[in-house]
Amino acid sequence: MSSASRLTGLRGAERLLADLLATNGPSTRTELARLAELPVSTVTSATGRMLARGDLEEVPQIPGSLPRRGRPAARLRLSPRAHLTGVVVLTPRTIRTALVGDDGSVAGREEVAFDWLQCSDVVAECIQRLGAARRRSGLDAAIDHVVLGRPGPHQQGVGMPLLTPHPEPSGAASPPAAAWLLDDVQPALEEAFDAPATVENDANLAALGEAGFGVAAGLQHVVHLKLVTGMGAGVIVNGQLVRGAHGLAGQLSHLTVDLGGPLCACGSRGCLGKVATADQLLDSARSAFGLGIDMFDLLGLSAQGDHGVRRILEDLGELVGRHLAPFCVMLDPQMLVIDGTLGPAAAPVITGLRNGLRRSVPPVMSRSLQITTGTLGTDAELLGAARLTRV
Ligand SMILES: [Zn+2]
Repeated sequence: MSSASRLTGLRGAERLLADLLATNGPSTRTELARLAELPVSTVTSATGRMLARGDLEEVPQIPGSLPRRGRPAARLRLSPRAHLTGVVVLTPRTIRTALVGDDGSVAGREEVAFDWLQCSDVVAECIQRLGAARRRSGLDAAIDHVVLGRPGPHQQGVGMPLLTPHPEPSGAASPPAAAWLLDDVQPALEEAFDAPATVENDANLAALGEAGFGVAAGLQHVVHLKLVTGMGAGVIVNGQLVRGAHGLAGQLSHLTVDLGGPLCACGSRGCLGKVATADQLLDSARSAFGLGIDMFDLLGLSAQGDHGVRRILEDLGELVGRHLAPFCVMLDPQMLVIDGTLGPAAAPVITGLRNGLRRSVPPVMSRSLQITTGTLGTDAELLGAARLTRV
């Protein structure tokens, strides 16, 4: 797809000028007028509209290249900000949509309640949601890359490789899986949008976001951890996202921590995601705070410094830290980033993680390893999606 063909909705002179810039590279208005066989005034007004929308930008002047007399004519080029990633991030209960530019700009953002069990056609859902995001944003540029983020591993050509092909019975500790998760919908997304598409694990997206635009920007060895609202890890080594052979790299939720524990949908027993679930955290809190407490309440109480809730979250961090230690020794990361959506509630989780790791990694590692909260909140996944084609 050419640079110019990404700019949809252009009419007449604007379309012609975009094509000329894509073919000839940066040009002055006078050069464009000559090539387009249009009056300079027409080119000036058309490029003015395109500059205002961000479709074009002026090329910075190189010091020493200025002519001796007079102001040099500005050269225009197609703006790299016209490259847009359409992002849809699903959880079992929410859907988040946005258009994200390479520069980290986010437009047309929306997050609403969503029941993925009721979703029979996820591709149609993406078409409808991203169409609405374009209308909200007012952006005229076409979507260059579509990213569908969701929990769990993704294997190209397979879909979610861990799950057994049946939903868990109602009353199970974790939400049952939607049938569409079992298929790889990437080819259908590419056909529907006529653009490259990627299906990606949400923790991987968050890792890319924090390593590109957030607290880990500039670091090469980073692990992003989701520990309370879902469980998973996004792993970046040498600046590259690590997916593994089956998309299973970083599937923290499926570390076996209790050989005789409950059966998991992956086929193993006693997986971490089965013995330290959000529901189990809530059950602990309900014994003290009553049945009405939910995850938002729990995180709010932690942020307010409630000792009981902080102890629950610290215990969770310590459990994960103990089992994460061999992983840290193998990878030697510079930073562990805790899910930024937790906000101040992450502090006791970090304390627990430090305690869990301290006894099981070399002292030089426990002293130097940074453990901190992400700074991008729910935007981490959106911004990470825009970096997928760049790392
Ligand atoms: Zn498992």
